[in-house]
Amino acid sequence: MSAFFTSGEARRVSSLPGVLRFSSCCVKLYSDLQQGKGESGNRAAELSMIIIVRPGTSREKLDRLIASFEARNFGTHLSEGETATIVGLIGDTSSLDINSIRALDIVEDVRRVSEPYKKANRKFHTDDTVIDVGGVRLGGGYFAVIAGPCSVESARQISEVARLVTAAGAGMVRGGAYKPRTSPYSFQGLEAEGLQLLEAAKAATGAPIVSEIMDAADLPLFENVDVIQVGARNMQNFRLLKALGELRKPVLLKRGLSNTMEELLMSAEYLMAGGNEQVILCERGIRTFEPYTRNTFDVSAIPLLKRLSHLPVIADPSHAAGLRELVDPLARAAVAAGADGLMIEVHNDPAHALSDGMQALTPPMFAELMESIGKYLRLEDRILCGAPL
Ligand code: PEP
Ligand code: MN
Repeated sequence: MSAFFTSGEARRVSSLPGVLRFSSCCVKLYSDLQQGKGESGNRAAELSMIIIVRPGTSREKLDRLIASFEARNFGTHLSEGETATIVGLIGDTSSLDINSIRALDIVEDVRRVSEPYKKANRKFHTDDTVIDVGGVRLGGGYFAVIAGPCSVESARQISEVARLVTAAGAGMVRGGAYKPRTSPYSFQGLEAEGLQLLEAAKAATGAPIVSEIMDAADLPLFENVDVIQVGARNMQNFRLLKALGELRKPVLLKRGLSNTMEELLMSAEYLMAGGNEQVILCERGIRTFEPYTRNTFDVSAIPLLKRLSHLPVIADPSHAAGLRELVDPLARAAVAAGADGLMIEVHNDPAHALSDGMQALTPPMFAELMESIGKYLRLEDRILCGAPL
């Protein structure tokens, strides 16, 4: 195996067509994004590598290749996609001779990866990641809507909303039990009781449930929560991300109020570095100078994140807009831009909601939204995943 790493006769081979197509369209994008940018230019970030394996390579040879790198203390990441098998190497690969690796009979091509995110990087994993939450799928042509109130407020409220949104086509039900509020005097959520009420709504509807965690110490209470949400304000709570990286359940990671796409992908990397590869990215609007809307919906983040990463990307037009009348048009914009799902706040009595009433749709408004996005999804032959019966 050591012969892999010493200089040998270099042999240039052509790349897999699928991989080449993707790479050529993205090369300019990557270089544009990186021009003069701080973090992605650091040395460690420049040193990872991807090895594109020849089609038809035996498992034994592939395992030997991986073991040889692991023996030299490189982190490895194997992606066996439909178009290509890729071995990603994480670590300082400067000691490796790229040409001698390229000359191996099982190697199609070798490239350096300069982005600081690796496991979240589309270069490490060319196919879309599909996340399956109890039969509700997101990514790779599957689309799902997560709907429900901002906060779980009472048994009646959450059960009624859950029943109506799933009947209208939502695949999962959301409800905040631990609320990150700007004011300590605002409603802070029902906490453990809120999670129990959400679980009861799951039992009644069959829909997987989504709820936000703010402190890793609360993790035992989230055992029956199907998707754990990391809110915008905690996107860079790295200790929380590390704790969630230990789990093997999906995490919905929202973009921070003032965070770049690269920072969002680096937070996804924290989860994935811990071994939790089930990450759903969420664009929920960013802070700008414009006061008419709560945030500014960054629709360009959707196609960009999908090019940079293989992870599913959903949009939350409710928090982006802050106004219910904008939720439907922004939802349609998100679908047209390629989002893999939506998160929509719905309340049975928005005027009396304990949080975010201004942006909450009523259940009939939500049903209309589902009708309108359904038309777009059908146009693109995408599959809408409703709640399992
Ligand atoms: C929420 O989903 O209720 C929430 C608080 O969202 P964000 O973290 O995007 O503000
Ligand atoms: Mn909210």
